[in-house]
Amino acid sequence: MALAQKHANTTTCYMPYITAFFMPRNDTDRPKVVPDGAVNFAFLGQFAEVARDTIFTTEYSMRTGMETVYTLCDVNRGVPEVWGSVYDVRCLLDATAKLQDGRKVTEMKLPLIERKALGAALRKVKGTDIEKLLVAYGII
Ligand SMILES: Cc1cc2nc3c(=O)[nH]c(=O)nc-3n(C[C@H](O)[C@H](O)[C@H](O)COP(=O)(O)OP(=O)(O)OC[C@H]3O[C@@H](n4cnc5c(N)ncnc54)[C@H](O)[C@@H]3O)c2cc1C
Repeated sequence: MALAQKHANTTTCYMPYITAFFMPRNDTDRPKVVPDGAVNFAFLGQFAEVARDTIFTTEYSMRTGMETVYTLCDVNRGVPEVWGSVYDVRCLLDATAKLQDGRKVTEMKLPLIERKALGAALRKVKGTDIEKLLVAYGII
């Protein structure tokens, strides 16, 4: 008690919940890394806006640092592009397989209707590039 009252020096503060990271956002919810007109300050880290990027990675934070230095110090270098994985069907298939711990759709115990629908879908794509993709990324 004496320690708490006389010696502890704690500044309490509110922290965002971890789920705050993953809430839908629009481009006015967070400050731009280098706000319009800023010449000697910027916002770094997870709660500054980087277009198209997904937060919760060290990569995101690094990108904000790069953008800051390159913009404010007028360095003629481009910030590495955000990889457009969300639009890449190969990446989405790969992620889907990994979410299933590598288990193929064809190995999953599906209810009758889903099993029939899957069979019909697989017959439809037989011999096509879609089937090749499904095989290549471990879906079937
Ligand atoms: C459990 C967990 C697992 C993760 N796994 C991965 C992973 O596998 N791959 C990946 O890429 N990322 C991962 N991350 C995310 C990654 O760790 C963060 O995105 C990254 O560390 C953020 O770096 P930052 O420098 O922007 O912020 P932080 O590392 O959070 O640094 C912010 C610093 O500011 C300090 N600070 C805060 N307020 C004040 C204040 N008022 N005055 C002075 N200092 C202050 C804090 O003490 C802290 O040191 C993970 C995070 C967690 C929590």
